Amino acid sequence: MFWLNIYNIMQKYKRFLSAVSASLPSVVIKRGERFSQHTSMGVGGRMALYAEVSSERDILSLIKICKEYSVPYFIIGNGTNIIASDKYHDILVIKVAIKSIKKIGNKIVCGAGVSLFSLNQFAIKHHLSGLEWSYGLPASVGGAVKMNAGSFAHEMKEVVSLVYFTDGIRIYYKHNKSLDFSYRHSFFSDKNFIILKVVFALKIEKNIDLLQNCLKFLEKRHLSQPYDKRSAGSIFKRPYNNYAPILIEKCDLKGMRIGGAEVSKKHCGFIVNLGGASAEDIFRLICKIKKTVSKKFDIMLEEEVILLK
Ligand SMILES: Cc1cc2nc3c(=O)[nH]c(=O)nc-3n(C[C@H](O)[C@H](O)[C@H](O)COP(=O)(O)OP(=O)(O)OC[C@H]3O[C@@H](n4cnc5c(N)ncnc54)[C@H](O)[C@@H]3O)c2cc1C
Repeated sequence: MFWLNIYNIMQKYKRFLSAVSASLPSVVIKRGERFSQHTSMGVGGRMALYAEVSSERDILSLIKICKEYSVPYFIIGNGTNIIASDKYHDILVIKVAIKSIKKIGNKIVCGAGVSLFSLNQFAIKHHLSGLEWSYGLPASVGGAVKMNAGSFAHEMKEVVSLVYFTDGIRIYYKHNKSLDFSYRHSFFSDKNFIILKVVFALKIEKNIDLLQNCLKFLEKRHLSQPYDKRSAGSIFKRPYNNYAPILIEKCDLKGMRIGGAEVSKKHCGFIVNLGGASAEDIFRLICKIKKTVSKKFDIMLEEEVILLK
């Protein structure tokens, strides 16, 4: 069955794949990879095509070819906020893997594929402060900016100065003020642009032990979140004047299981994969939580995670 699918994928995308290998020899396109291999939740079915792209120029060219051959694409960073369904996804998944990083004065210019962990290590080495709260957040820079990731009362919007992005035709840039940042939202939230590079404006701090501060935040994370199990972080956004985990706990849903998915006992806002969960288990659990919270508190929780159905 799998080989038959691979054969069908090859036939359907034959002209597209030839165009990519002719003009982008450095881009390797894999067939039939699973979302479960590329997301922290560890669930999700096969995708038609998968490519990791490590340069701005290759991303632009690849998107151009996608448009020319009408191949639908979906961008991922570290896959830590995505839950993909178990079905076959007839798309090209492009992992942005641009890893360049350099310092200019108090600024760091950073490829969208750099992990927040590496960015933090770089900032610590160069005595640049402002990102410590994000130490241990398992995102890529691109994913974190798009989601305006945050924790411990901090958000990406505090440190992002400039973002370079593309639609496959041109490269554009926007300054912080025009990036429309709000809670888990940015200018990129409902658009199909690809973030290529981000400039962070930080504070030169030579007298503080930045690593120690980072480790304090990391410890807080490990104490309050289920880092020992697979998850996609907080499933729900914070409802107005309330906290999703508290509402969920008050509904006695802590530890509730469907198949291999469980409402984390450590942090009720997380659903964890106990091993062998299907995306369907997780979707059903999300549905159950939303219905129960809505019935008890008349509050409709909204997903923070990206659901690919
Ligand atoms: C254990 C754990 C803890 C977490 N803790 C936190 C936390 O404290 N705070 C928080 O806010 N989140 C947290 N998260 C959620 C997640 O890490 C963030 O939402 C993060 O910003 C997602 O980054 P990513 O690179 O994994 O993006 P992905 O999950 O790969 O993608 C997320 C979205 O961004 C888009 N995207 C990714 N890269 C790009 C790009 N280069 N250009 C355009 N679009 C792009 C994708 O299409 C998708 O829509 C946690 C997750 C886990 C597993």
